Amino acid sequence: MTVDDSRLHSIYDLVVRRNPGEDEFHQAVREVLDSLGPVVARHPEYADARVIERICEPERQIIFRVPWVDDSGRVEINRGFRVEFNSALGPYKGGLRFHPSVYLGIVKFLGFEQVFKNALTGMPIGGGKGGSDFDPKGRSDAEVMRFCQSFMTELYRHIGEYTDVPAGDIGVGGREIGYLFGQYKRITNRYESGVLTGKGTGWGGSAVRKEATGYGTAFFVQEMLRERGESLDGKRVVVSGSGNVAIYAVEKVHALGGTVVAVSDSAGYVVDETGVDLELLKQLKEVERARISEYAERRPAASYVAGGSIWDVPCDVALPCATENELDESAARTLVEQGCTVVAEGANMPTTPAGVAVFVDAGVLFAPGKAANAGGVATSALEMQQNASRDSWTHEHAESRLAEIMAGIHARCAEAADDYGRPGDYVLGANVSGFLRVADAMLAMGVV
Ligand code: NDP
Repeated sequence: MTVDDSRLHSIYDLVVRRNPGEDEFHQAVREVLDSLGPVVARHPEYADARVIERICEPERQIIFRVPWVDDSGRVEINRGFRVEFNSALGPYKGGLRFHPSVYLGIVKFLGFEQVFKNALTGMPIGGGKGGSDFDPKGRSDAEVMRFCQSFMTELYRHIGEYTDVPAGDIGVGGREIGYLFGQYKRITNRYESGVLTGKGTGWGGSAVRKEATGYGTAFFVQEMLRERGESLDGKRVVVSGSGNVAIYAVEKVHALGGTVVAVSDSAGYVVDETGVDLELLKQLKEVERARISEYAERRPAASYVAGGSIWDVPCDVALPCATENELDESAARTLVEQGCTVVAEGANMPTTPAGVAVFVDAGVLFAPGKAANAGGVATSALEMQQNASRDSWTHEHAESRLAEIMAGIHARCAEAADDYGRPGDYVLGANVSGFLRVADAMLAMGVV
């Protein structure tokens, strides 16, 4: 715990007391509070109005039963969540995660992060997150559909284009958003395109939404490197995960001249010194839903390592794009020792606090997830904009808007870091810049 201001310290203690056992949520709160000391010193009005305490308490938390029937006729029961964290800047916005590890503490950490991330985009969106402990792995399409229909049968009453707009996250991609939207439409008898984002491009989805988080992470790296007079061209890159974010990070890194030499899933990683074959990766993960080990089976140049740490693979740039706390202190040391100089988080909170400290001490360019992966939610906001005007943009237009937004986020982080005397500290810059936008809106709206 490095929160030095005594008021911030007692806020953190209160959060831990009121939310027992929710370690990931405590970690996410601590990371933000660690940055806010200079802000409360300069702006006592936030402390006077207890804005920070209010930001740490979700506006609404919904927990519900999700009963459904599997292919063998057995009744299954999962738990569903939606945490509507903060609506000072707009309707709650944030993804749904379907993964067996999901519980309230994970949803709250993700919702809390989302509040600051969404603020950083400069767009009119509040923060929320949801999901279920449902495990889609090994389930048939029909089972996933029945689960999604049951999940939406409760969720529909809490969401809406002006209220709360969910999207995808781990385990929720285009297939699941389709089933969820179909059930919402059926129950409400409304074709309300703006109620969910990540829809198919043929029925209200935005061009580049699928690619946006991964592309945005690569754009953010490019912006950071530009400050040092460098680029991704010629850089050796390692990307963890092989899901939505990872695949499109690989695609954009390659387009910008870098070479991705390793990708992973939860069972192991593959090393491909010739550069990851993107078409094969997409075929395996998006079409066949196969394991990453299969990549090495089909590509003689590649080797598979079961288990182990992908961060043992030497690289110039590391992009953790799988899940929270996947990159710890020891992995961070290995990366630094082997010459890594840039880390950008495509996933949410993938680096442990001790891992971040190693990068900061070593002078590594480090971009926290709330800045580097904000391209996904930003493009979701562009999807809402297109839905509201019943418009549909070209790929080129959507991608150029994404690139502008990522450049804007980079600039906001850099300016806040400069303003608070910590140039180049993107963690402080992201937390402070996001906080100030939300806090000012909350002050203006009174005690609500
Ligand atoms: P996907 O479900 O598409 O892919 C997740 C990937 O991470 C898979 O390769 C998965 O492997 C791996 N993974 C998941 N859990 C673990 C684990 N415990 N240990 C090791 N590997 C794991 O999810 P996304 O790509 O959408 O999300 C990845 C990260 O990016 C998450 O942190 C998410 O919150 C964040 N994010 C996503 C956004 C989006 O637009 N989708 C937006 C912003 C952030 P396996 O298949 O074996 O489980």
